[in-house]
Amino acid sequence: MARLSEGWSKEPFFLFFHPPKSPTKKENIKMNYRETLQAVDTEKALSVIGINSTLQGAYVKFNCPECEQQALIKAYGEKKNLWYCPKCKKSGHIISLTMTKKNIQWEEAKDLLLKARNGVKKITEEFNLKYDLQYNDFIKDKGLSEDICKFLEIGTPKGKTMLSGCVAFLVRDEVGMRVAYFGIKMKDEKHVFHKSFNPEQYLYGFQNLDFAYDVYFTTDLFECIKHIENGFQCVCNFGLPYISNEQMELLEKAERVTFSIRDELVKPFALQLTQRQKFYRFIK
Ligand SMILES: [Zn+2]
Repeated sequence: MARLSEGWSKEPFFLFFHPPKSPTKKENIKMNYRETLQAVDTEKALSVIGINSTLQGAYVKFNCPECEQQALIKAYGEKKNLWYCPKCKKSGHIISLTMTKKNIQWEEAKDLLLKARNGVKKITEEFNLKYDLQYNDFIKDKGLSEDICKFLEIGTPKGKTMLSGCVAFLVRDEVGMRVAYFGIKMKDEKHVFHKSFNPEQYLYGFQNLDFAYDVYFTTDLFECIKHIENGFQCVCNFGLPYISNEQMELLEKAERVTFSIRDELVKPFALQLTQRQKFYRFIK
């Protein structure tokens, strides 16, 4: 056990160095109702809960839980994962459908459904679009310098773009290829990104890591950039309240990872990390 330095663990072990920095927003901890409906792949979800279905255009047909006639559930778009039965006029969404079908509670149903997340694949072609990125007071107030923003291609895009009103972060894949811009709205800090980009497939900053040195992990992109600016190696999972399988695979390459995440996330992350073969720790 000689290589196990103090504070590092392969078991769920919590080490806190500093008092909490800022109050955390509770609503961000778990995917909310709307996010869950958007994140879940309809066909996969129905199969997970044991319902046979057929895809037909933007809809998936299945047997109505009320009358056993043919009901329809939307597989894409605004009303994704909401269902309707033209025969008995019953309607609902996939979470309540899961609760009824599996006789489980809301949170349990959500967790089960999230196993059927959208399988958006990795981007294989270089992303050529280049925004003219501006540095501004919002970014400055977040504690990022103009230099680091220029270096990492971060800023608010000039002109009318999909990320208008957002701070855009250029995302590269693990080998450094440009894959997308990830946006954070300045108004409410909501995340905006193109549907071809699946955050689960990437870790922001991963391409720059030297695995011989300690790696930091945060769920907050602004925090991540600050760590990098302060000379730490840091990655970010784009604010997801969990580590995806793909992200876990990438993280496995680093010998030691220090998690700097919100209090409420420590327990769920620690549970995920019990399977990890490398060292990790949590700090505040
Ligand atoms: Zn019906």
